[in-house]
Amino acid sequence: MEKKAEKLIENLEERVRFFSQLGVDFIGVSPASKEPSYPSLEEQILSCQMCSLGKGRKNAVPGEGNLEAELMFVGEAPGRDEDIQGRPFVGRAGQLLSKIINAMHFKREEVYITNIVKCRPPENRTPHVDEIEKCKAYLLSQIEMIQPRVIVSLGKAASDFFIHSRLGMTALRGNFSEYGGIRVMPTFHPSYLIRNEPNKILKKMVWEDMQEVMAFLDKK
Ligand code: SF4
Repeated sequence: MEKKAEKLIENLEERVRFFSQLGVDFIGVSPASKEPSYPSLEEQILSCQMCSLGKGRKNAVPGEGNLEAELMFVGEAPGRDEDIQGRPFVGRAGQLLSKIINAMHFKREEVYITNIVKCRPPENRTPHVDEIEKCKAYLLSQIEMIQPRVIVSLGKAASDFFIHSRLGMTALRGNFSEYGGIRVMPTFHPSYLIRNEPNKILKKMVWEDMQEVMAFLDKK
């Protein structure tokens, strides 16, 4: 009982942190539900200039998918194709991610896909800490709205967002962590698999990680 109460308080504290990071008027509130409104959040992302990445982008990429998804994938940042199309994971890495999603017996539109930063960094570099910090509230709002049961963090930058660890991805992957009461499964980024195409063990590892997720979600 005590444990349950502690968990509840922990979750509530996490929720308070979500909203304190949002600040006043940061996201819209739907009058009917008093919940943050997704279109308003999306509009804010599309016109955001809170960090320097806003200047170099063609399109911000808020994310897409089912707003009631039980499974959410979070990558690092939009790449070239995503920047052009304004959609997440549409290049080669995106095609591979779609295959992984389908192999997990989900349709792409049944899950939610986004990144820790919503604008493409120059030359696809890893987003800087200050950029991640400035963009953080958008992702937290999305998680708060969607409330997935599992988040799959793709690659080190996304995994570091949820799991503060010095471990590299090889050690980190395959083990569930928790973030605000939500299970987080870190695994390799699809673009890493593509860059290391001949290394079939990496693909096998990702598939093992996804099987853990499927088992948790009771997905057969
Ligand atoms: S990366 Fe995030 S914080 Fe920076 S401009 Fe884009 S939406 Fe705004």
